[in-house]
Amino acid sequence: MTQETKEFQAETKQLLDLMVHSIYTNKEIFLRELISNASDALDKIRFESLTNQDLLEGNTDFEIFLLPDEASQTLTISDNGIGMTYEEVIENIGTIAKSGTKLFLEKLKEKEANGSDTDLIGQFGVGFYSAFMVADKVTLLTRAPGQTKGIKWESKGDGTYTIEETEKDQRGTTIILKLKEEFHSGEHAEENFTDRYKLEDLIKKYSDYIRYPIKMNFIHEEKPKDADGKPIEDAPATQTIEVRTLNSMSPLWTKNKNEIKPEDYQSFYKNQFHDWEEPLEIIHTKAEGAVEYTTLLFIPSRAPFNFYNRDYTAGIQLYSKHVFIMENCQDLLPEYLRFVRGLVDSADFSLNISRELLQQSKQLKLIGKNLEKSVLKTLDTMLKKDRSKYEKFWQEFGKALKIGVYTDFQNRDKLKDLLLFSSSKEAESLVSLDEYIARMPENQKVIYYATGKDRDSVERLPQMELLREKGLEVLYLLDTVDEFAIEALQEYKEKKFQSVSRGDLQLDDMESPEAKKETEEISKNNEALIKAIKEQLTGKIADVKISNRLKSSAVCLVSDDKGVSIAMEQILSDMNNNMFKANRILELNPNHAVFSTLRNLHETNADSFKDYCDLLYSQALLVEGILPEDPIGFANKIASLMAQSEK
Ligand code: ADP
Repeated sequence: MTQETKEFQAETKQLLDLMVHSIYTNKEIFLRELISNASDALDKIRFESLTNQDLLEGNTDFEIFLLPDEASQTLTISDNGIGMTYEEVIENIGTIAKSGTKLFLEKLKEKEANGSDTDLIGQFGVGFYSAFMVADKVTLLTRAPGQTKGIKWESKGDGTYTIEETEKDQRGTTIILKLKEEFHSGEHAEENFTDRYKLEDLIKKYSDYIRYPIKMNFIHEEKPKDADGKPIEDAPATQTIEVRTLNSMSPLWTKNKNEIKPEDYQSFYKNQFHDWEEPLEIIHTKAEGAVEYTTLLFIPSRAPFNFYNRDYTAGIQLYSKHVFIMENCQDLLPEYLRFVRGLVDSADFSLNISRELLQQSKQLKLIGKNLEKSVLKTLDTMLKKDRSKYEKFWQEFGKALKIGVYTDFQNRDKLKDLLLFSSSKEAESLVSLDEYIARMPENQKVIYYATGKDRDSVERLPQMELLREKGLEVLYLLDTVDEFAIEALQEYKEKKFQSVSRGDLQLDDMESPEAKKETEEISKNNEALIKAIKEQLTGKIADVKISNRLKSSAVCLVSDDKGVSIAMEQILSDMNNNMFKANRILELNPNHAVFSTLRNLHETNADSFKDYCDLLYSQALLVEGILPEDPIGFANKIASLMAQSEK
């Protein structure tokens, strides 16, 4: 096969361009990225060799090797991992197949614009390209096990790369970085990546816990010594080469808690789980008894950009007696805790267990239950002891818990005390259900809530006015999943949830009997009017009622207690689910001037009456944030009304 020159995919080019032009200040992290790729490649061959020994080709000392060379201004990083075939090189290195890349580029530009220095490279898995931050040219030699030929890939980061077959004895990947002038020996070197001691420091700092030895040659020059043991100056020096392992490799979780410094946990977490930020919470426990295991779990500070997408892979790493066996075990923790990162090490796991067998493993189930409990306990303590930290957590992962509430009824009791909501009483902070109950007046029977896209739109709902006047606290459900969670809970501490836009407001104890009687009387006196409106709006609404929840607005749209609410109907319809329809009820404010106008028109002018009914309904829809069914007809009617008022 002859050498081919290929173009990078457009997005890759953009990314390379950013790397080459040094958008990122902390350039030394390229080493961590390449080491972490090498370590992943070693994990893969080790895992596959469990079922196919032949893949190892007799080469079983898994390791990573660094070779700095001042003379050629290069740094070479080799591994005897899984390597890549021709197709894999093109697929993995020539293109960025990941959906996150576009977002990464956008975020980087954003970062450039506002100057913030959050680290993004690892978060978006574009690690390999970080090599171009420090290298003018990158050469990659690789051979997958079982292949007779290796592949040589080379690029200057200028939009194209070459690819050809090559001889390669050892399985795995070798990456040769031709360092840019400012990164090798020389007067102006910012950082010298051919300096062995510098490299040793970097490995200690970023890659100490990598499970495979990271080795490097140290060259010692020594003059021969005379009889007194003094070096003979004129004699030529002899060189001895010492191969040293730079990383400690000792698994952090096996150490005693009191021997571990917070920074140790943090750097381990960042390294192992490719996060740039420190974790919000660390859970490190050793369990003895029915099952024995050690677990080290982390609650991240920030949700990954794709956390709520389908392509996000959750899971816990599994180890058996400190040996890595599986990357993302998803059977351990329930779905709603999928933000938790971490590992479990247990002698009860067997080394080459298949995923299917693992799913049925009793030990795994038992450990999973324990882990779930301890994460929930940690969250509960955080909520009670460090509210601001918990709110930070909630900001990032609260939605996962809320989804958990309605996807599995078994979760309700576990999660209900951990929920937080915005509320009419607190503009800045959030309120738990327990706090809400604790401060509600004695004669309040239900927990009020209102739904909307943000605080402002909820506060402007006509349905809110009366409750505000009565000083009743209302939970604001601003997240699309909130109402589904509330519906699933149904009640909290025997108090039912009551939407301000649904059914009867249950204000009985707070309403004077006279007021109630008055509403009933108005309804009775206007039976014919109500019937006529209902007829005009047939097919659109289920009922028309005199309202006891409106103050200054003329109408509002509510739904009855059964089935879905109007807000839920909208959310479901956005998801292309049109099966569920709310029973819409148009409520009229009898004290509004429009009400008497309607009454007059009903008796005097049938055509205008019909128009007014349609207008009122469209208005009520608009207030709910729903477009009227016939926007043009609506606009025309308004326009002719406006024209009339001129006359
Ligand atoms: P990520 O590691 O986040 O997937 P990278 O850009 O760093 O992103 O690497 C892209 C892909 O290239 C990897 O997923 C892997 O398949 C392949 N790769 C990178 N380095 C190596 C290596 N040393 N050995 C084998 N495959 C590698």
